[in-house]
Amino acid sequence: MTTPTIMWFRQDLRLADNPALHAACKRGAIIPVYILDDIGAAEWKMGGASRWWLHHSLTSLQHSLDGCLNLYLGDPLTVLTQLAEETQAQAVFWNRCYEPWRISRDSHIKSRLSEAGVDVQSFNGSLLWEPWEVLKQDGSPYKVFTPYYRNGCLKRSTPRAPLPEPCNMDLAAKRHDSLLVDELGLLPDLRWDKKLEGHWTIGEAGAKDRLDRFISQGIEDYKAGRNFPDKPYVSRLSPALHFGEISPNSAWHASAEAAVLLGRENDLDTFHSELGWREFSYYLLYHFPKLPTANLQSRFDRFPWVNQSNSSLEAWQNGMTGYPIVDAGMRELWETGYMHNRVRMIVGSFLVKNLRIHWRQGANWFWDCLADADLASNSASWQWIAGCGADAAPFFRIFNPVTQSRKFDADGNYIRRYIPELAALPAKYSHAPWETPADILDNAGITLGKDYPKPIVDLIASRQWALQAFKSTKENGSRKLPADDTGVLEVPQL
Ligand SMILES: Cc1cc2nc3c(=O)[nH]c(=O)nc-3n(C[C@H](O)[C@H](O)[C@H](O)COP(=O)(O)OP(=O)(O)OC[C@H]3O[C@@H](n4cnc5c(N)ncnc54)[C@H](O)[C@@H]3O)c2cc1C
Repeated sequence: MTTPTIMWFRQDLRLADNPALHAACKRGAIIPVYILDDIGAAEWKMGGASRWWLHHSLTSLQHSLDGCLNLYLGDPLTVLTQLAEETQAQAVFWNRCYEPWRISRDSHIKSRLSEAGVDVQSFNGSLLWEPWEVLKQDGSPYKVFTPYYRNGCLKRSTPRAPLPEPCNMDLAAKRHDSLLVDELGLLPDLRWDKKLEGHWTIGEAGAKDRLDRFISQGIEDYKAGRNFPDKPYVSRLSPALHFGEISPNSAWHASAEAAVLLGRENDLDTFHSELGWREFSYYLLYHFPKLPTANLQSRFDRFPWVNQSNSSLEAWQNGMTGYPIVDAGMRELWETGYMHNRVRMIVGSFLVKNLRIHWRQGANWFWDCLADADLASNSASWQWIAGCGADAAPFFRIFNPVTQSRKFDADGNYIRRYIPELAALPAKYSHAPWETPADILDNAGITLGKDYPKPIVDLIASRQWALQAFKSTKENGSRKLPADDTGVLEVPQL
């Protein structure tokens, strides 16, 4: 008779296309377990919105596993060792994670359990290509996305097809010492999470529904449509991909089948390349483990960030900068735990370039507020937007929030949705309310500075300061800027 296998769920909270679960079920009975490891995570302990998502995702997985999922808090090595001893399990299977702290923790666990005679096997359940398999001809890692993705990944192999959900799982009865999901303490005391609830169906079935909806509505015009925050062309799969409620392989192949039938190969290529950006973020994190904290381009170590401007940071966080598209994005984040990619770029550029606040401050706020907060994608994207990343946007590419707003939210629908105080303003003026004639503001019942803030920064002046600041980071930079000079205006002169 075979002994049971411990199936350690981590960032793979699903039954379908779960390689570790698939292999464990082939061996016989399984003991499913999830361990919340806040101490090992240290500074990368999950933020509020992610914890909220995880609570519901575990509830959903518990249901799918007929209540047999064992839940623990604490050190995974201690938990797994004890569990293996008490259940006579001689094998522990898991899908790999790629955060540096998890890589070192997991390799330690693997060697300790192996020494104790336990068969430990890890699988790839989160990525389309393993980061160590994709290298340049000289054996070094790629630093630029297009050659990484087109030459390194696509020419190497097609992502494997998804595995089916295991049928007739032999689940060991839940153990007496397992905690309840509520006992993990993932929900906030103040229950601010209530506002997020209406926006999501969390868990594997919800992720599958979102993928199906995207395939029937979004993929058809993804390439152009993905830029418009008010349009339904993006998948909103990011939290599900982050927690592994759905695999990237499922998203890759299901979208491919649909797009080929619809004759939308260009849209498919763009969607696949966005999944490719997710891969690239993990790739960068794997090969450059300091990605979350250190500039990949060291010239940015000399950049004169403005750190003492707390009021500007707070205005940004609270969606009160006076720039409607920025404020709508920040409020979308607060209300839903998500922000559209185009708007993430706009608010990110505004923070690091117009306000000259360090990208890590932005990344920290996102870490706490995003349901899809992901160490790889968040760090790589903030470095990209700040210009200090591997294959970053050139620093001089400073998004103008008004131009972006006019282009990508021309009807002002996105702004109206998240900034009700501007709802009565004609669309034409919603992008730059300070340019609105007084009688129109009066008719809309808006007093700027009272009902909605005046802009906290002059776009032209702050852009110039940002470019000067960038110049000053040259090895022999001609001048060093004082760190408190942001171009932030007390009285906006616009
Ligand atoms: C400043 C900033 C911070 C970000 N932080 C995160 C983060 O913490 N977690 C996160 O998942 N994404 C992050 N992104 C990337 C991107 O904004 C989101 O992945 C995307 O908006 C998710 O929406 P979606 O699922 O509807 O995307 P879709 O357009 O439907 O794309 C499908 C999937 O591809 C992946 N993807 C798409 N664009 C990117 C990208 N630029 N980089 C990496 N992966 C991408 C995501 O997994 C996404 O779910 C960030 C972007 C910026 C500019």
